[in-house]
Amino acid sequence: MSAQILDGKLLAAQLKERLIKEIKILRDSVRGVPRVFSIVVGNDPAGLSYAASQQKTAQSVGIHYELQHFQEDSSQEDVLKLIDELNSYDHVHGIIVNKPLPAHMNFKTIINAILPYKDIEGMNLTNFGLLLMGEDGILPCTPAAALALLKSSGVSLKGKHAAVIGRSEIVGKPVALLLLKEDMTVTICHSKTIDLPVVVHDADVVIAALGKPNFIKGEWIKKGAVVIDVGINQVDGKFIGDVDFVSAREKASYITPVPGGVGPVTSVMLMKNAVKAFKMQTSL
Ligand code: NAP
Repeated sequence: MSAQILDGKLLAAQLKERLIKEIKILRDSVRGVPRVFSIVVGNDPAGLSYAASQQKTAQSVGIHYELQHFQEDSSQEDVLKLIDELNSYDHVHGIIVNKPLPAHMNFKTIINAILPYKDIEGMNLTNFGLLLMGEDGILPCTPAAALALLKSSGVSLKGKHAAVIGRSEIVGKPVALLLLKEDMTVTICHSKTIDLPVVVHDADVVIAALGKPNFIKGEWIKKGAVVIDVGINQVDGKFIGDVDFVSAREKASYITPVPGGVGPVTSVMLMKNAVKAFKMQTSL
């Protein structure tokens, strides 16, 4: 059996269509359009390329996007001062801080300076706390994308066992909380987990987010499991996931590819969050 592909580009296109309609309705009302402000510090190619792709996605759905590019040697105070100003502007609905930041800056301090309802990456303490409590906040984009792809399989999740491999604050922990909210039984694995293949083999859903190319082998996967590969690893100029796609595809019922899986959905989730933030701030 060869698994069906959960196509992230297709899901992203469908989500974008819905967003475009939603934003058009907002634009035609007195509420206007969401405006987001993105901050890049320094010249790291990853940060610059992520910001460029955000801009493209924002423009394609009709969201106003502005970028502030700070020099590498700018101070953390400069960035915090701008965030303070953006927090106070009624016409700015969402703030993004692109990673990586230079070593002299603290990402957590900066992200936590953003007002929770403008934190469209869903990464500050308040939004994380709301997720932990199972309450409505702004969800972190990659975990929300992983869940959206999982749900697009149509497989019932309730009561099933999910193995989340990775416990980072950006992916692993929030994904686990989202799955718990879906009534799944969740095992969070990490680098000290003993006998990872055994844990993975017991799982109906495998979420791989460890950052190690082709690490999760097909023979570990339970027959018929759903595999969501969050990993993005650059090897010899190519992007490769954390799951050995070729062997895993022979065991899984559904699997996401890399590239073309979680990545494209993640960027649309950011725009979905911008619309949510806009609605929260402009409810008439
Ligand atoms: P991270 O902060 O480096 O965390 C990696 C996690 O994996 C850690 O919890 C680590 O355990 C665990 N781990 C490492 N080696 C392991 C092993 N041998 N067995 C089991 N667990 C192991 O990475 P991240 O930011 O969560 O990112 C994970 C992957 O997702 C990366 O490939 C990244 O590029 C990708 N990513 C993709 C998107 C997207 O939009 N698609 C967004 C963000 C990240 P310890 O805690 O014990 O160290």
